[in-house]
Amino acid sequence: MTEARPHRVLVLNSGSSSVKYQLLDMRDGSRPAGGLVERIGEGSSRLVHTPPGGGEVRERTEPIADHAAALKAVAAELAADGLGLDSPELAAIGHRVVHGGKHFTEPTLIDEAVLAEIERLIPVAPLHNPANLTGIRTARELRPDLPQVAVFDTAFHTTMPEAAARYAIDVATADAHRIRRYGFHGTSHAYVSRRTAELLGKEPSEVNVIVLHLGNGASASAVRGGRCEDTSMGLTPLEGLVMGTRSGDVDPAVVFHLKRVAGMDTDEIDTLLNKRSGLVGLCGDNDMREIRRRIEEGDEAARLAFDIYIHRLRKYIGAYYAVLGRVDAVVFTAGVGENAAPVREAAIAGLEELGLVVDGELNAVRGDEPRLISPVYARVAVAVVPTDEELEIATQTYALVRG
Ligand code: AMP
Repeated sequence: MTEARPHRVLVLNSGSSSVKYQLLDMRDGSRPAGGLVERIGEGSSRLVHTPPGGGEVRERTEPIADHAAALKAVAAELAADGLGLDSPELAAIGHRVVHGGKHFTEPTLIDEAVLAEIERLIPVAPLHNPANLTGIRTARELRPDLPQVAVFDTAFHTTMPEAAARYAIDVATADAHRIRRYGFHGTSHAYVSRRTAELLGKEPSEVNVIVLHLGNGASASAVRGGRCEDTSMGLTPLEGLVMGTRSGDVDPAVVFHLKRVAGMDTDEIDTLLNKRSGLVGLCGDNDMREIRRRIEEGDEAARLAFDIYIHRLRKYIGAYYAVLGRVDAVVFTAGVGENAAPVREAAIAGLEELGLVVDGELNAVRGDEPRLISPVYARVAVAVVPTDEELEIATQTYALVRG
């Protein structure tokens, strides 16, 4: 009997206090196992593991001190299902890395030099890159011989022209501190724009797409012929759309004002804009389901939060329409984009002159498949395309290691 060629990829997404993992079979895109560890280092960590074949989800709560311990616990769960890291069927591990700066334009096989570069980017991604690095280092200790690939959230946006990527601030200062617009959610924007071209029966090179990734974090991008031309997040994921807990665009002078007048220090302002703003800052809730429920009950704060969210979204649709000149599709994705029909309806309402129309019945249909929500006669397609960052990371990782 010949041994099966390695055909599985483990995708790891190491956050500041969590590790999400998904094992994918690249022969058919199926997911034999996956799960997450959360509240790492917080005393009562939780591990949730979904085994193969629809088996019963295993969940336990115990202290998990750090990422190294978390990954070891994950490896043990996988081994219990006969899918351990030592399996000859495992082809590679694909790591989500948040910040790749200007340097990393593609998925990259990890070696010491790559690790050093990711480390050098910590000043521009102080929350994310250290956790990503710990995840990679631990995985390398567990399987030193296995190819490990970094897939960067910023990579898809490295095609942005300088006109979109630069802030209009003193060039020497910006360059000295690597201050420019990098963009994030790139894996999602890449996947969704490609799937949208498929939905339209075209090659990615033939279509111009505005992608609206609306999750708890949210970003828009303008994609011309498969290449990103602009995106709403910037140096960090704080810029752009109104998000669950982040403000998105504000006048930078708000920061000076909070410092000088409100007496807040830098960390307090950071927390305010990243964690206590956006929908949660406006109405106390960041879950769109809850906000919609409150609006139905006549809640004014929820209504205003929704209106501000939609107003910003429409500004970006208009802006990216102008960036692209010709638009073939506007596509909604991620938790809010895929599920919240009222958000899609309000974002597109009244834009018939731009060729944008949403069909009420199609918009109300729920589903996991890419679908059009615009009527057949519409000049521009409006679509819902569920994102799948794990599949995209696994696909890019597998393509790289298979050569
Ligand atoms: P994500 O970051 O992509 O996982 O998106 C999470 C967000 O999606 C949640 O905070 C909710 O606001 C939103 N969401 C998830 N399911 C629904 C739903 N059925 N209707 C409206 N919003 C939803």
